[in-house]
Amino acid sequence: MAQEQKRDYYEVLGVAKGASEDDIKKAYRVLAKKYHPDMNPGDASAAEKFKEASEAYAVLSDPEKRRQYDQFGHAAFDGAGGFGGGGFDFTGADFGDIFGDIFGDFFGGARRSSAARNAPTKGANIRTSVRITFLEAVFGVDKELELTLKDPCPKCKGTGARPGTSPETCPKCGGKGQVVFTQQSFFGTVRNVQTCPDCGGSGKIVKDKCPDCRGTGYIASRKKIQVSIPAGIDNGQSVRIREKGEPGINGGPRGDLLVEVIISEHPIFQRDGYNIYSAVPMSYAVAALGGTVLVDTVDGKVAYDVKPGTPTDTRVRLRGKGVPSLRDRNVRGDHYVTLIVQVPEKLSKEAKDLLKQFDELTGNSLQAAAQAGDPGAPGPDNAGGGGKGGSGSKKKKKGFFG
Ligand SMILES: [Zn+2]
Ligand SMILES: [Zn+2]
Repeated sequence: MAQEQKRDYYEVLGVAKGASEDDIKKAYRVLAKKYHPDMNPGDASAAEKFKEASEAYAVLSDPEKRRQYDQFGHAAFDGAGGFGGGGFDFTGADFGDIFGDIFGDFFGGARRSSAARNAPTKGANIRTSVRITFLEAVFGVDKELELTLKDPCPKCKGTGARPGTSPETCPKCGGKGQVVFTQQSFFGTVRNVQTCPDCGGSGKIVKDKCPDCRGTGYIASRKKIQVSIPAGIDNGQSVRIREKGEPGINGGPRGDLLVEVIISEHPIFQRDGYNIYSAVPMSYAVAALGGTVLVDTVDGKVAYDVKPGTPTDTRVRLRGKGVPSLRDRNVRGDHYVTLIVQVPEKLSKEAKDLLKQFDELTGNSLQAAAQAGDPGAPGPDNAGGGGKGGSGSKKKKKGFFG
């Protein structure tokens, strides 16, 4: 007998015999989500598990059935009311809110649209994107977009019917705009409300089509649209332009146009939120003696006084030279500048001699290895030579720009 192979319902749901209604519901919700056929297309064992869990839930969620099951086990349902023939009577089982919870996404469209289809409805939003430069994002910019937009057809005033005629009530849905499908499923009969395929949800059928719009009720045309992009916008953010989307339905307002902003990279500046980052070279002399470096900012060049004895990779802050806040353009981020000591690659004979002299005056490190008595160490000529120094400074450069 089929019922002898059946697993205990409590075991199926993984709950204790005394589990509360809430626990049972929770357990089923987890299993239903995991094994639902929509989640596991073509997986027969998942479907079987789903069915098993649904059956267990149908019984244990119903106090009367649960009482019978507790008393008689599967035998309680053997026969007329039961599962014997492979079918199962789910009538009365409380699946409704569980489906709402779990399958809102799957059935969402149909469920949500159970409100009157013919009510004025806002048109769909349209998405597009625009590319702007780094500086345009910092300071804001006005752009002109060209888009194809639909407008209600002036000839038929959006009805889609030839002037002088009018659309007829859709015979399939009787003007409701939606049709109800009944399906046999694990849960018994399931009613599914769907948009009417014949009229597309409008409830009306156009027999004699308007020649201008060929019955669609809309005319599409290229339109120029001004978009004002605010200062401080960041990559990937969108600007909403109200009522420049798809036309509304049944007299509803138009949808919106959402313009995603894509910001081109800048050769010098990087951005993180409202702060800007860049690197600026300084000579060894400036690093050692102090001096002024000119720093490029989004506001133009700024003279920065480097303190004597500033090491390479020192980061300094230029307060308020960053990106304006989207909320208040008078509030700005900062600009962080990394000062990088440049190692000269090509030196005149005179400069080399002066550097050697400098080296002697500051501790004679060019001779240090030789003085330590290491015969394998390169002498002063090698150390100062082009090959080694050249590759060293190349590395530095890579770090700076990378
Ligand atoms: Zn028309
Ligand atoms: Zn219809």
